Amino acid sequence: MKTRGYFNGFGGAYIPEILVETFKELENAFLDVKDDPLFWNEYKTVLSTYSCRPTPVTFAENLTRYFNGARIYIKREDLNHTGAHKANNVIGQGLLVKRMGKKRVIAETGAGQHGVATATMAAKFGFKCTIYMGEVDMERQRPNVFWMEKLGAEVIPVTEGTRILKDAINEAFRDWVANMDTTHYVLGTACGPHPFPEMVTYFQSIIGKEARKQIIKITNKLPSRVYACVGGGSNAMGIFSGFFDDPVELIGVEAGGRGLESGRHAARLSSTDASIGIAQGYKTYFLQDSDGQMKKTHSVAAGLDYVGVSPILADLKEKGRVRFESATDKEVIDAMSLTIKKEGLIPALESAHAFVQAFKDAPKLDKDDVILINQSGRGDKDIFTIADAFSDPGWKEFIIKKAKEYNA
Ligand SMILES: *Cc1c(COP(=O)(O)O)cnc(C)c1O
Repeated sequence: MKTRGYFNGFGGAYIPEILVETFKELENAFLDVKDDPLFWNEYKTVLSTYSCRPTPVTFAENLTRYFNGARIYIKREDLNHTGAHKANNVIGQGLLVKRMGKKRVIAETGAGQHGVATATMAAKFGFKCTIYMGEVDMERQRPNVFWMEKLGAEVIPVTEGTRILKDAINEAFRDWVANMDTTHYVLGTACGPHPFPEMVTYFQSIIGKEARKQIIKITNKLPSRVYACVGGGSNAMGIFSGFFDDPVELIGVEAGGRGLESGRHAARLSSTDASIGIAQGYKTYFLQDSDGQMKKTHSVAAGLDYVGVSPILADLKEKGRVRFESATDKEVIDAMSLTIKKEGLIPALESAHAFVQAFKDAPKLDKDDVILINQSGRGDKDIFTIADAFSDPGWKEFIIKKAKEYNA
């Protein structure tokens, strides 16, 4: 456990002693299945009948013509059940929980997307499910709370601290310590203590495995570049891992929020504002002040609004294997509008970050170049946040009218 789980010093498992055995059990369960083709087949089969795997790769013909440069292709993780790549990870961990013989899962969620995915998996596999969510986040994300509850999960409002994601993480760890014999903590991204970064990457690697085969089949060649947005880093690790051994440039796009100079962003690897530290059980680049207190981050996309980042991506940045960029909220809205109008595709606000950088690069590339964007999720499920981000007047009128009906 001491030497495993480090990526050139990033990562590790900085956990309370009481959880060491639980982590060992999880790591062993993961090591058991990791190189077992039977497990991978079971995983693929469940996803092919319950989610939409393999998800297709779509040629963005109109955007290609519009930018008049590289040919643009899109990997369609938005077609997964619950509308994003998160389904891959939760189903994978669910299968592990079954093997470990545990009957209860817990998770923490900020925007609620990972909570909904976890509650869905728990309903399918018959697990008890508890979701921790900051009280402030619960107020902001009512539609996701609604679905978690309908899916049978108990959603516990966290009233400690600032009542947001980081406080929910603390509560989830407290629950795990108290209930580790019966309970598994479903971590939502390629962060946290070992083995989570590696394990979540393993489950998400299905994206890259499929995408590499598909793009070669469609275009007869490897893409020149692959783009993915980076929150915790799981969809990026998922698609990038398919191309690590290829001469393909990999680009991770973080939340530039109101602009890097404003300080209101979540750019850990694409700005100079983050520094290396240990928090939440692992070592990586965090947006923290000189006392190691976490800074407030901002993004129009809730899924990218996080202080830390995958330790594996931190290592790949230092090695120069992945290029990191950021996209501002405004650029994201513009790229999203364009994609909707030109292709009839509705990327999630998170995914649209990857589109921004691809659109900046595409016109400068050759017409023979192929680029691939990971559309990590779909936006239409997030109409409350997206309609706000677009400042849509018709939507505002609708909400006001609805509120009046309730008040009458
Ligand atoms: C949660 C989410 C993300 C961010 O998570 P990663 O672990 O960085 O992939 C990105 N896109 C969508 C659609 C999400 O729901």
